[in-house]
Amino acid sequence: MQGAALQSQATAAEKAAAVDGLFPKSALDNHASRRILVLNRNWQAVNIVGIRHAFALLFREDAQVIDASENGQNTYDIEEWLTYSLENPPAKACDALLTTRFPVRIPDVLILNDYDRLPMKEARLSRESIFERDEYTCQYCGGKHSADELNIDHVIPRERGGRNTWENLVTSCIRCNERKANRLPHEAGMRLQRRPRKPPARPFAASAISEHWANPEWRMFLHA
Ligand SMILES: [Zn+2]
Repeated sequence: MQGAALQSQATAAEKAAAVDGLFPKSALDNHASRRILVLNRNWQAVNIVGIRHAFALLFREDAQVIDASENGQNTYDIEEWLTYSLENPPAKACDALLTTRFPVRIPDVLILNDYDRLPMKEARLSRESIFERDEYTCQYCGGKHSADELNIDHVIPRERGGRNTWENLVTSCIRCNERKANRLPHEAGMRLQRRPRKPPARPFAASAISEHWANPEWRMFLHA
């Protein structure tokens, strides 16, 4: 049993090594910033990976290519994709991975063969994510504002040991922020509208669409 597991690992490693064998490192490096969307077998977005990881998934036969330009109608395993690349050379240099033999088309979207789970992504603490959690509403007076009219308030002021946490940061309008100053809410005669908490994790797709390098070819797969 253990032997079989080791053997299949060796095979996976060999196939991953094939990525480096077929594709010179410089060719992979030329596309270091390229990102490929990965779907689970239920067509739900579950990851965004670099080009080396993407081809390793293909060579290990863990994933197939979905050709987004064909409305996701066709999927290709690695052999079919190499053949397709040979017969339909990539039109643009940015879509071509140069190998020792012929340029291989760089896929935009992969679909995993076996994986059907939907991992959740933890919310990342940032100014924008606090505003988003609080729905751009001042947590003291309840006024709704645009981002440039809002501040982040430390409920327990930093000077008094208040930290940068989901539970201690709230959206505040500039007026309430100035009024509260370096005091606790009750010392300023103010009350929070609701207790600040960490927002629940969201399915990966909901957070992926906002990533700045989101590829237009991904759009049809990120509605979930
Ligand atoms: Zn306010």
